[in-house]
Amino acid sequence: MTGKSYSCIVIGAASAGLSAGLYLSRQGVDTLIISRDIGGQALLTDDIENYPGIEQISGFDLMNRFQKQTESYGAQFLYDEVISVERNSDGNFVLSTRSEKYTAEAVILAFGKTPRMLGVPGEEKLQGRGISYCAVCDGPLYKGKEIGVAGIGEHGLQAATYLAGVASKLHVFYKGSKAPEDDEQYQDLINNDKVTFYLGASVKEVKGDKTADSVVFSDREGEKTVKLNGLFVEMGYIAKTDFVKDLVKLNDSKEIITDKLGRTSAEGIFACGDVTDIPYKQAVISAGQGAAAALSAYNFIQRKHGRNAVKSDWKAVKPRKPSGEGSGQGFILNK
Ligand SMILES: Cc1cc2nc3c(=O)[nH]c(=O)nc-3n(C[C@H](O)[C@H](O)[C@H](O)COP(=O)(O)OP(=O)(O)OC[C@H]3O[C@@H](n4cnc5c(N)ncnc54)[C@H](O)[C@@H]3O)c2cc1C
Repeated sequence: MTGKSYSCIVIGAASAGLSAGLYLSRQGVDTLIISRDIGGQALLTDDIENYPGIEQISGFDLMNRFQKQTESYGAQFLYDEVISVERNSDGNFVLSTRSEKYTAEAVILAFGKTPRMLGVPGEEKLQGRGISYCAVCDGPLYKGKEIGVAGIGEHGLQAATYLAGVASKLHVFYKGSKAPEDDEQYQDLINNDKVTFYLGASVKEVKGDKTADSVVFSDREGEKTVKLNGLFVEMGYIAKTDFVKDLVKLNDSKEIITDKLGRTSAEGIFACGDVTDIPYKQAVISAGQGAAAALSAYNFIQRKHGRNAVKSDWKAVKPRKPSGEGSGQGFILNK
């Protein structure tokens, strides 16, 4: 069954996708934004200080503002996960979620990056049951408990530093074989009595019946088991682009290659934000790319129908409802 048709469907509702949705809906494009959550990675930080025009804001509040503004111009939202995108014989696209199919003339890929998994036995079973991928979000749940962090690089050290302030005892399974001696966070961690730092440690298995209760890891001294109440996996982020790899060209890091207008190698498919090959992963850059991809998608649809293209979004457009009111009303809640 093929569900409802839209002029454009955006996959992902964070800095890039919400900005794209705003620009599309201001042009009057019938737009659906499908996303697993609203806000993406920005939800993981309480402190954004470099979004121009706003001196300091939490990621949640910034994304809430994005959402309300986008919604106020009529974009529709759907909480779901897109699992495939295919091109129909008529040139339009069919997007499948776990429960439904939708068609669109143009698609914007704005699904960012996803936490890298350990890929070890026990991980899938214990996700959300003692295994977390977000120290800032779930750390407070482990206040006063003995926990672990499987981390690497700056990302792992940052999470460990935060969790050291929460846990009664913290085990840091650090994957890099070379100690990051110059890093202040590393120095603070190794000098903290609550922290045991295992260098060159590779987690082999997470054990537990109902919740994670121990970690098996190996380091240069061999294989060991540590008992704990929870494990944070902080190995950085990857672009999970496998479901579009036959449609658009990817680089070696599996990021979607775009030009400066947000066009991918496939006609009618546009991309923006952290999922693209832009080396700078920032909220403001994702938002800017989202605007460009949306104008490109709009112009693609206009030309297809023999109508005029635009170069900007300067016209005054009345919101369908004032921003800041009734947030959530535009959602199609299917879960
Ligand atoms: C801890 C942390 C702190 C940060 N601090 C800052 C900062 O201070 N300043 C700054 O500018 N940037 C910061 N960043 C970076 C910034 O958050 C990202 O650059 C920005 O969120 C990227 O936005 P995006 O829309 O491209 O993708 P993402 O934020 O990754 O969002 C992708 C969206 O797509 C959805 N999605 C993914 N796959 C699918 C699918 N298959 N189907 C449906 N939906 C899907 C996700 O649920 C999510 O909503 C920080 C990032 C982190 C992790």
